[in-house]
Formats: sequence, C-alpha cells, structure tokens
Amino acid sequence: MTAVVDLRSDTVTRPTAEMRRAMADAEVGDDQYGEDPSVRALEEEVAGLLGHEAAVLTPTGIMATQVLLRALVAPGREVVCEADAHVVAYEAGAAAINAQVQFRTLVGDRGRLDPDAVRGALRPVGFPNTEVGAISIEETTNRGGGAVHGLDRVRALRAVADERGIPLHGDGARLWNALAASGEDPAAVGGNLTALSVCLSKGLGAPVGSLAVGPEAVIADARLWRRRFGGAMRQAGVLAAAGSYALAHHRERLVEDHANAHAIAERVAGAHGDLVDPAAVMTNILYVGTGRRPAGEVAAELADQQVLVGAFGPHLLRLVTHLDVDAAACRRAADALVAVLAAPGRR
Ligand SMILES: *Cc1c(COP(=O)(O)O)cnc(C)c1O
Repeated sequence: MTAVVDLRSDTVTRPTAEMRRAMADAEVGDDQYGEDPSVRALEEEVAGLLGHEAAVLTPTGIMATQVLLRALVAPGREVVCEADAHVVAYEAGAAAINAQVQFRTLVGDRGRLDPDAVRGALRPVGFPNTEVGAISIEETTNRGGGAVHGLDRVRALRAVADERGIPLHGDGARLWNALAASGEDPAAVGGNLTALSVCLSKGLGAPVGSLAVGPEAVIADARLWRRRFGGAMRQAGVLAAAGSYALAHHRERLVEDHANAHAIAERVAGAHGDLVDPAAVMTNILYVGTGRRPAGEVAAELADQQVLVGAFGPHLLRLVTHLDVDAAACRRAADALVAVLAAPGRR
C-alpha cells in the first residue's frame, strides 16, 4: 500500500523518534511554581533568539495571540489588521470575547499590510472616535499563501505604530518559515514587533506548543491571562523539550519544505501553466487552481490516490509542505495533481 502524502497542513506532523526521546528525557517540575527547567530554558531561548526580554509557553498559537492581545490592548479599542488574518478568520471570534477588541480590517497584498494604507486607516484621536489600540500582522500570512512581509516592511509598520504610540503585534505562527526564506536576523524581525507569538507545532514539527514573546511587563501580564484562560500548565517540560529539540534540529531544514513547495508548483505549472504560479510560492504554502472543476471533487480524486490536499475555494486547492513529506513524496503528489487536473471535464 502506498503511503499517504498529507499536504493539508503543516500541523499534521508527528514527533520523530529523536524528539520523543528528548521529551522522555526532559527534566520537569511544576511550571506554575516556576520550577520546570525545560520550560524556562525554552522560554529564555526563544525570547533571546527573537530579540526580546521574556516569553511564555502556551498550549496553542491561538492562546498565545489571545493573551498578547489581552495584555497589549484595552477593551473597546480597535486592532488594525489584514482582512484575511487568522485572528479574524479562524479564531471563532475569540478576540471579541477575550480581549474585547474590535478589528479594523484592511485588504492587503496576499495578507500583507501596506504601511501607508495602515497610516491612512488610523482614526483621528478624539471623542467619539474608536480608539486605535494596536496594529497586528501575520508573518508569514496563512490565507495569503505563506507570503512574507520581511524586515523592511515590518520596520515601516513599526514606524507607523510608533507615530501613534501603539504596539505592533505579530502573529508569527510561521515566523520560522519567513526567517528561513529571507535569511533575515530573527532578533531584528522579532525585535521590531512590540510582542509576537510563534508556533512550535507547525513547520518545526513539535506536537504541541507556542510562545508569546515580548517585553518583561507584557509577558508578565500575558502569563496572568494564560492562567485566567486556563492554559497554565504543570510539568510542561515534556512539551518544551519537544520545542527545544525542534528549534535545534528542524529550523534550518525549513528551506527544504520551501523547495518542495516550489517544485510541486513548477511540476504542475509545466503541465497546467494557468493553474499555478511558481513565482508566488514564497515559503511552504501553495495554491493550485482546478479550472472549472469543483475543488472538492479534485481533492477527493487525489485522496483516492493517497494524496491529501485542502479544498480552499470553489476552484482552488491549498497544499502545505512540511517535515513529514520529503521531495519524493512531493513529486508523487505533483504527478497525481498533474494527472487528475488533465482528466476530461477540466475545461
Ligand atoms: C495556525 C495558526 C495559528 C494558531 O493555531 P493553533 O492551532 O492555535 O496553534 C495562529 N495564526 C496563524 C497565522 C496560524 O496559521
């Protein structure tokens, strides 16, 4: 039986044998007493790497974002972000409940905000205007197909935030991919964001975990909100150890995922040049059109061939490469795509 090539998301990775060993060997303690050495080591490592004072481990990326928005923005204020942002599209309205903020959404370019457009969207200060509380960006963009803002644009957005005296928040679920693609200094990119979240459970391949990263005072507040949200853990060192292992062993290889995504796009474009643009593949996410055929139908035919992809739109597939699919698996997926898309009924 052929192995399944699962390209639905980079969240489907399973911990490797070596990672499981690191988890089994982790020194642990009660983290709520500040006594889990593995958690503390990971928090210090990630804060330092990203140019910040402190970090706090959370079970999920959404919780990392939620505790940060709660810590950074007063209730009733507005967070300026891109219209397709994860925090708007995929968090079930969490920020409206937890931080009690509203969003001011701007349409950007593949999920990326334009600094001048953001400047123009900041409401004037004064009664009865809604007060602007933060600018939030995603790096890389999820629905934007893994597009990278990059350091220059992050700096320009920070300048806009500074002009108004508000924080620039970063949802860095795939920041590691952005850094791998750009080769930019993690501390420079992270340090230009007032506070940010990063995931360990996507490209890095850890089973669970994210971190909220920022200045000491912001993270102390985020830690309090993590407790209030029920996300403060005990012997979480077994999870932190997976994260530390992933940072040490799975970060540099992210460029392989990007090369695999690009290779799939090239292979499909070779046969169906109108359905995919290889130049648009900046990291590990790619979109492939299905012509006139419903994306769900194409995805089902691919699933019959043990290739799993997401039906993203009525005529659009989404593929995400990751640690558990190597170049050969991606070639097989690309070949299956080419064949299925060539089947009669496409036009
Ligand atoms: C995956 C993701 C998250 C958080 O996801 P969790 O499932 O909560 O870990 C947040 N933001 C973006 C952009 C993401 O892609």
